[in-house]
Amino acid sequence: MSTSLRSKILVALVSIIIIPIVIVGFTLVLMHFDIIHVPALQDIDFHAIQITAPGKNTEELTLLPLTLLWIYIIAMIAMVIVVSKVLSDFLLMPLKELNYAAERIGTGDFDFKIRYNKDNEFGKLCREFDSMKDNLQLTSRKQDIYENSRKELIASITHDLKTPLTSIIGYVEGLQDGVVTNPETVENYLKVIHDKSLRLDHLIDDLFTFTQLELEKFTVNVAETSMASMITEYSNTKIREYQSNDHIAFIVGESVDDALINIDEFRIGQVLENLISNAEKYTDSYIKLYTSSDDLHYNIFIEDDGIGIAKEDLPFIFDYFYQCDKARETKRKGTGLGLAICKQLVEAHKGRIYVRSTVGEGTVFKISLRK
Ligand code: ADP
Repeated sequence: MSTSLRSKILVALVSIIIIPIVIVGFTLVLMHFDIIHVPALQDIDFHAIQITAPGKNTEELTLLPLTLLWIYIIAMIAMVIVVSKVLSDFLLMPLKELNYAAERIGTGDFDFKIRYNKDNEFGKLCREFDSMKDNLQLTSRKQDIYENSRKELIASITHDLKTPLTSIIGYVEGLQDGVVTNPETVENYLKVIHDKSLRLDHLIDDLFTFTQLELEKFTVNVAETSMASMITEYSNTKIREYQSNDHIAFIVGESVDDALINIDEFRIGQVLENLISNAEKYTDSYIKLYTSSDDLHYNIFIEDDGIGIAKEDLPFIFDYFYQCDKARETKRKGTGLGLAICKQLVEAHKGRIYVRSTVGEGTVFKISLRK
């Protein structure tokens, strides 16, 4: 492409010399054959035209038009070379760079820099192209991470679904076979089955919400709700759930603030469920749920005194598939979906979710809903 452009520039410039010569020659031929008449030039004997100059002999003066013609031709050739070089630098170099860049981007290679950086319109275009390439590279990297995470997710979900299912089947078969008759053991078996089923239910809820969000089929069905009633009912269930837990205390704030807010009770419940199940994984001794409110906002807090989240992880914990140090000890393996879903659900209520955490001291999540 650049070669053909270069030859076009050359042809255009050469035409500047050739075209006037061709026009003059053609006119003279037409006049010679009496096809056209130019009265001012008619019947002039060009050979009889005499140029005079003091101190110059006839021979020197005869050479004068030829010399002038040569000077004209040489000057024009020099101009063609210079102008074509300038134009080629100005046009061809950036176009060559852009062409090369487009070819590399086409093959999925973003690891290069466009070198043309002059302070002109083409330089500006190249810089913009370069920053577009950087953005594409970033998007492509994110896409790669996302794709890998999806694959990991499928693997880990298959594992997460399979493990509790296998133990549920084992415990149910134990009960069916009548091997276990001791009431205490039977109760224990049932409790394990219940816990595992809850875990499955939670996982399936997350997956279902994630799929809905992905397919943009997600809706919130809001209704005016008394927050105090909702929170009290929810926390009573949780208190009952944690009553038999010897390691973790579930605490509810002294008084629960009230406000009438348009929420989807199921979705907000899902957010609380995710935050509490995370807190349960990492806490040391307690999980606390409390509320606060001002003129504009109603806030729900979930606090724990667990291992906390490192400063460098905090900006990313609400991203899909983000997991803090995967190697750190967790009682249950996660999917990296929970907090991303919480954020989407809270934002679907035009609310915000915040986190404050100190490593070794604990974490507080705050859901802030507009009144
Ligand atoms: P996961 O399903 O893997 O737990 P989440 O999106 O729920 O994914 O959480 C993202 C990351 O944030 C997790 O890897 C977890 O380590 C960290 N995290 C979430 N909540 C807490 C908490 N209360 N204390 C410490 N770390 C937390």
